[in-house]
Amino acid sequence: MKIKNLTYNKVWSYDEALESQENIKLKKKYDLFINGKFVLPEKSKYFPTINPATEEKITNIAQADKADINKAVESAGIAYEKYWSKISNRDRGKYIFRIARMLQERAKEFALIETIDNGKPIKESMSFDIPTAINWFFYYAGWTDKLKYAFPGKKIKPIGTIGQIIPWNFPLMMAAWKIAPALSCGNTVVLKPAETTSLTALKLAELIQDCDLPPGVVNIVTGNGYTGAEIVKHKDIKKIAFTGSTKIGKEIQRTTAGTGKKITLELGGKGANIIFEDAAINQAVEGVINSIYFNQGHVCSAGSRLFVQENIYDIVMKKIKDRFKTLKIGNPLDKNTDIGAINSKKQLEKIQNYIKIGKNEGGKIYQTFGNLPEKGYWCKPTIFTEVSQSHTIVREEIFGPVLTVQTFRTIDEVIEKANNTFYGLSAGVWTEKASKIFKVSSKLKAGVIWANSFNKFNAASPFGGYKESGLGREGGKHGLIQYLK
Ligand code: ADP
Repeated sequence: MKIKNLTYNKVWSYDEALESQENIKLKKKYDLFINGKFVLPEKSKYFPTINPATEEKITNIAQADKADINKAVESAGIAYEKYWSKISNRDRGKYIFRIARMLQERAKEFALIETIDNGKPIKESMSFDIPTAINWFFYYAGWTDKLKYAFPGKKIKPIGTIGQIIPWNFPLMMAAWKIAPALSCGNTVVLKPAETTSLTALKLAELIQDCDLPPGVVNIVTGNGYTGAEIVKHKDIKKIAFTGSTKIGKEIQRTTAGTGKKITLELGGKGANIIFEDAAINQAVEGVINSIYFNQGHVCSAGSRLFVQENIYDIVMKKIKDRFKTLKIGNPLDKNTDIGAINSKKQLEKIQNYIKIGKNEGGKIYQTFGNLPEKGYWCKPTIFTEVSQSHTIVREEIFGPVLTVQTFRTIDEVIEKANNTFYGLSAGVWTEKASKIFKVSSKLKAGVIWANSFNKFNAASPFGGYKESGLGREGGKHGLIQYLK
């Protein structure tokens, strides 16, 4: 198959993005992306997608039914047989590079749409979500013609049609984390974004059309949990890659048990962030802010449990509270905003309920001052002290800007406390001593451990959890294995 040459020469800047808001063109309704075309949903049903910062409707999104999923899976199957398994590894790479470059060119548009649809600060969409998504496509484009070197001596093959279901916290980035490695290994996909944040995945579908990707290689179907469940059940889906709640992850495990379907699950977390007495305190405090208030705390790897060595507790808390006062909450499109809107009313109510439970169980609450905007879904950054392992808010994932703080005296004590959770996704260690970093991190049961940093991501490094935080890894060579036989 011949691939046309396209040229990409635009650069984007942060200010440019804010200025170009009025240039964003959204359709009145978005259909399903199946077999390279936007098609009407069989039952002609649509649901609104809302800007969580204003509660205004942005546009309408198609609700895919079982018949639509059948069509999407069929088209992915045909695309696999007819095109994607026939072209050379190198040509597959060219297509994925093309997606990366087109996305780079249109980054500001994607960043704005992500912020409007999700509620996250534009600062974060511009500096994190979109660049990370681009990076993932570049990284996995590079692997297509090197797969046999990645796994020497092994006879590897793509799996076939993959069902991919993603959450609402990093919509485009999650789509990239799923689509890029799957295509790189030679699979075709049916991807479903979360119901509150379908827009950037649909814009990605438009971009994929512009990239001339063979029809059916990527299909994007929108809808709710029912739609997701139909993808999971479909007999021609050979593998499910899911990111979302532990509850649905367990349901997917039950549904796929005994079917021979492969699964990877990236689920919840309750990360421990540990500050030792010898840590660089100002850096550690910045790390705490980033670990729990980044993306309104809607991060499965968030460091939602802070452990501070007892003798530095007062100074650390004072510095965190001082830093708190500088956090700017409000309009996500303002480039100075640090904390944007909570993604949905449902999530806000869930967080508020946990805050209530925290107070009722005797935790001492500290919140930032100032008024919140009248419209939209907002939650002030919150800290709970005077809590112990038995408190509900220390045990359960809140998925919001709520931090619990506990103290410890010895390394063994903090390791035991940090591991005392059903989850095992992430952790952070703050200390000047490398020996302590190695000692502690070798004993923490978490898939990702950051040392003197937090919430840093790189396409080359694997990400994923132990225990109830999931199965399998995304990123790096580990991310390729999940999409190969
Ligand atoms: P949250 O509670 O944060 O919304 P979910 O795990 O419910 O997290 O949602 C993550 C993704 O899983 C979304 O795309 C959602 O539509 C989808 N989903 C929800 N229920 C199911 C299900 N039963 N089977 C498959 N996917 C589902």
